[in-house]
Amino acid sequence: MEDSSEPLQPHCLVLSYPTQGHINPMLQFSKRLLHRGVKVTLVTTTSMSKTLHGSSSCTSIPLEAISDGFDVGGIGAAGSPEAYLERFWKVGPETLIELVERLISRSLPPTCIIYDSFLPWALDVARKFGLVGAAFFTMPCAVASVFCHCQKGWLEVPVKKQVLLPGMPPLDPQDMPSFVCDEGSYPAFSGMLVNQFSNLDKVDWVLCNTVYELDQEVADWFMKILPFRTIGPTVPSTFLDNRLEQDKEYGFSIFQPDHDTTMRWLSTKPKGSVVYVSFGSMAELKVDQMHELAMGLERSNCYFLWVVRSSEAEKLPQGFAKGTETSQKGLIVTWCPQLEVLAHEALGLFVTHCGWNSTLEALSLGAPMLAIPQWTDQPTNAKYITDVWKMGLRPPVDEERGVVTSEEIEDCIRKVTEGETWKTMRENAGKWRKITKDAVGEGGSSDRNIEKFVAKLGAKT
Ligand code: UDP
Repeated sequence: MEDSSEPLQPHCLVLSYPTQGHINPMLQFSKRLLHRGVKVTLVTTTSMSKTLHGSSSCTSIPLEAISDGFDVGGIGAAGSPEAYLERFWKVGPETLIELVERLISRSLPPTCIIYDSFLPWALDVARKFGLVGAAFFTMPCAVASVFCHCQKGWLEVPVKKQVLLPGMPPLDPQDMPSFVCDEGSYPAFSGMLVNQFSNLDKVDWVLCNTVYELDQEVADWFMKILPFRTIGPTVPSTFLDNRLEQDKEYGFSIFQPDHDTTMRWLSTKPKGSVVYVSFGSMAELKVDQMHELAMGLERSNCYFLWVVRSSEAEKLPQGFAKGTETSQKGLIVTWCPQLEVLAHEALGLFVTHCGWNSTLEALSLGAPMLAIPQWTDQPTNAKYITDVWKMGLRPPVDEERGVVTSEEIEDCIRKVTEGETWKTMRENAGKWRKITKDAVGEGGSSDRNIEKFVAKLGAKT
């Protein structure tokens, strides 16, 4: 062993799966590390790094890229999820090794790889160079537990009836991550999600973007079997503890937000009056569902702000976007500064697909939700939103058509914006806002975990 009197400065490579919902939390966690004096390099795929807007003006974290085998076009160029993952799993580790070697040759040796749990092969690369290996969950404890049970063979899939897992409410098939109920839908992705757990017994850390108090029993269950720590919510500091200077936004964005139009429009609306609708960066709604949603918003007669990505725009009912009575009540944008919208006093309700980042943001900013989950982990998040955190309602799906109808949407909007339900949601919103804020504040559960992680990084180097 070398006897170096100067220990290496901790330097984490933070490797993200290339989607907005994975880059945001990992970047945000990186900022917390940087704040504590750890050097950080964010790593994603070449194709994704080309798409990211915003960048270094918002964050001083350097960005490096590895290859997924599709440097132009990413997953869209692969033809199928199977082809994409197969190539990525081959080329990804090779180019990650090259990156580590390049950084060593530039005298910037990494001491730790914090990798998205979707990419378990990164642990082998960490081990090859003798680095600390930390898996990062961008999903909540409950969802991770379901996949962990699948991987260990403790849960029979596809799930066809109600199941009881440790520390969780009873989960019906409709509350389960979609891949667990309907294996056929995306076999490559279901394999990837289950495989996250294939080598976790060998990691040094499992860091989960959630708050201990949100799902205490499942977090405790994980802590018994893994070196598991909660470190969230990874929401920019300005919206929570305000200890990171100028940390108002994530900093990297795949889509350009329509910032000024959105905020100007919101500022003209009364307090608590706006229904904000967004299905995140990936979900593709059925045309029928878009129409029902449009009609539901119209029937509710509320002000609404609706994010419809360009690729989804043609599914809107004709004339809905402009020139109709409805458009005087609503604004449709292709992307917006979601955090600022959720924090705005005009916000009344968030109609969401229940992506984990959106859910955590709503809990952190005290926004009641209407849960319309689409796929992957979203149904489980919706179950927690309605039954555990009691921060929203989930309108039922019309079984024959497979969509939530406009009547149900209108009904739920009314319930959440008026009367007793509104009162309960508001009270719970205040409660979870305080809990999430305290968690990352000085001495909070996540703050202490981050501190321990950083201390250990120093000790290891
Ligand atoms: N988001 C945003 N503007 C929008 C819609 C979404 O900034 O108009 C952000 C949102 O704040 C969240 C992320 O995009 O951080 C979406 O992540 P989530 O996990 O909710 O859903 P996904 O896109 O992964 O399905």
